Amino acid sequence: MREAMFIESLIELRNVRKIYRMGDEKVVALDNISLTFEKGKIYCLLGKSGSGKSTLLNLMAGLEKPTRGEIVFNKKHIERMSEKELAIFRQKYIGFVFQSYNLLSTLTALENVTLPLILRHVRKRKRSKSAKEMLKAVGLADRARHKPAELSGGQQQRCSIARAFVNNPQVVFADEPTGNLDTKTTIDMMDLITGIAKRNSQTLVIVTHNMELSSYADQVIHVRDGKIESVEDMPKKNENTDNGEMSHEKN
Ligand code: ADP
Ligand code: MG
Repeated sequence: MREAMFIESLIELRNVRKIYRMGDEKVVALDNISLTFEKGKIYCLLGKSGSGKSTLLNLMAGLEKPTRGEIVFNKKHIERMSEKELAIFRQKYIGFVFQSYNLLSTLTALENVTLPLILRHVRKRKRSKSAKEMLKAVGLADRARHKPAELSGGQQQRCSIARAFVNNPQVVFADEPTGNLDTKTTIDMMDLITGIAKRNSQTLVIVTHNMELSSYADQVIHVRDGKIESVEDMPKKNENTDNGEMSHEKN
């Protein structure tokens, strides 16, 4: 049976097309893409600016609808969901990390991390505990009462990573998460985000144009002109050896 083949997959894209129309002009952002994302794996969507990476991520997160094709998340067709269903779907299953952090400037670090729990109606005592634990896990316990403007770029990204993971989502999408960070902070951030995802068997999809980040992935998906150029399975990493330029967190 066809469905049986996809039992282990978390997200399945089937012949997905996305066309943007601007007046008479047509931009084919994604051209007939089929991909499978499995549970607990780390993926890197690698490609130049304008290749369609963010569009792909936005479709998988239900932020945009495909022009054609199917997107199946946990056996549910997200292209058929209403906006209301999509909002609940995102709150329940998805965490986001953005290049520009997207923290709310009037809220403290702790309040920003608590927000997804409020949206999910988690009780006060429980959400306070979870948010504090999460801030501690990203090394920001001593900055809980600071506002984003009082934090460095790296600290803001730590805070947004805490916010992305606090609901324990099945998948975290990160769009150029280290785009505004220096090399040292990039390594810290990648160690942090991949470490959390691996510990909790969460799926992580990282969009980047930085080839060096691909060393963190289980699979690298090369995107070019709206098409999948190739899919590359990365060698299994040995936790105790330092392989390549980017070091990995050791447990
Ligand atoms: P990437 O994230 O790889 O830089 P994008 O997915 O943002 O690429 O964009 C892919 C293509 O789709 C580009 O040519 C871009 O200009 C176009 N595009 C993206 N979003 C829109 C939009 N909202 N309206 C029109 N064109 C868009
Ligand atoms: Mg982009």
